Amino acid sequence: MGDKVSAIESMKKAGVPCVPGSDGPLGGDQEKNKAIAKRIGYPVIIKASGGGGGRGMRVVRAESELIDAIAMTRSEAKSAFSNDMVYMEKFLENPRHVEVQILADGQGGAIHLGERDCSMQRRHQKVVEEAPAPGITAEMRKFIGERCCRACVEIGYRGAGTFEFLYENGEFFFIEMNTRIQVEHPVTEMVTGIDLVKEQLRIAAGQPLSFTQDDIQIRGHAVECRINAEDPERFIPSPGQIKRFHSPGGMGVRWESHVYAGYHVPPHYDSMVGKLICYGENRDVAIARMRNALAETVIDGIKTNIPLQIDIMNDEHFQRGGANIHYLEKKLGLS
Ligand code: ADP
Repeated sequence: MGDKVSAIESMKKAGVPCVPGSDGPLGGDQEKNKAIAKRIGYPVIIKASGGGGGRGMRVVRAESELIDAIAMTRSEAKSAFSNDMVYMEKFLENPRHVEVQILADGQGGAIHLGERDCSMQRRHQKVVEEAPAPGITAEMRKFIGERCCRACVEIGYRGAGTFEFLYENGEFFFIEMNTRIQVEHPVTEMVTGIDLVKEQLRIAAGQPLSFTQDDIQIRGHAVECRINAEDPERFIPSPGQIKRFHSPGGMGVRWESHVYAGYHVPPHYDSMVGKLICYGENRDVAIARMRNALAETVIDGIKTNIPLQIDIMNDEHFQRGGANIHYLEKKLGLS
């Protein structure tokens, strides 16, 4: 099937904890679908098996809405992803987004590099990411990491990858696997000292992993702010020419970007123009460095979300750690 339904099936088989759900695609028998929803318990979420980017999902809170919701998600999925397969999951009300980075060589070697918390989201798009995830103990990291590694070996996975989980009340629930390097990978590099892209290239060249699980130590804390060319209040893209540019720097500050003074931000692509990653011996130091680094950054001529990122770094709830995936939208008055 090559999609989310088959990914979930493989993960379940490998012992990775998944969200309670339909365990396969939904068919046309509506009585059966009602029974599945009843077994899972409302609210449920109908999801497109071929979906991505936070699209193709619909929350259902009562049986009276179920049949229409399945039909609508199915027809949207068909036109957006040319795949009308849909499935059902328990809708978790207040989860955090916690994901596990893995590296597997396809030769029986698989290790995990700890987790990231990516709960600061707007419209299912990540805005801030950090590693490690606040409150995740070494035992929990080992528990979930080992299951991800076992799954990699079982499916014969080769390369860098991420297991995405929703995390609620101390439990992990697998939602999907990203079979690529991700925007937020630098926070893992900072706390493990492992160059993930270099390892990807080694694996692609047919080499086995160059280290074992015991070599991986999580040290300190790293935070990443995505810097987007957009209006920080209305979130409308802000393409155009960058007139003045000054990048931040100093101890524990990593700036990754392609932009410079005179660069034209095109209107055709994703609005991300840079990633600012700050490292510290603990979370407070990483956040303090991020605050300074954001204030140092100058990108004139276009609007950016730097004011929003400063706002998040100054937010008491963010500073405490462990906010859920709805927190940012609530703070912004969007939900
Ligand atoms: P995509 O591939 O489109 O990113 P995901 O399956 O990763 O789809 O889900 C994207 C986001 O949708 C999650 O980060 C979460 O915010 C929300 N979501 C997905 N499944 C559930 C669920 N079962 N309960 C609550 N929220 C969910």
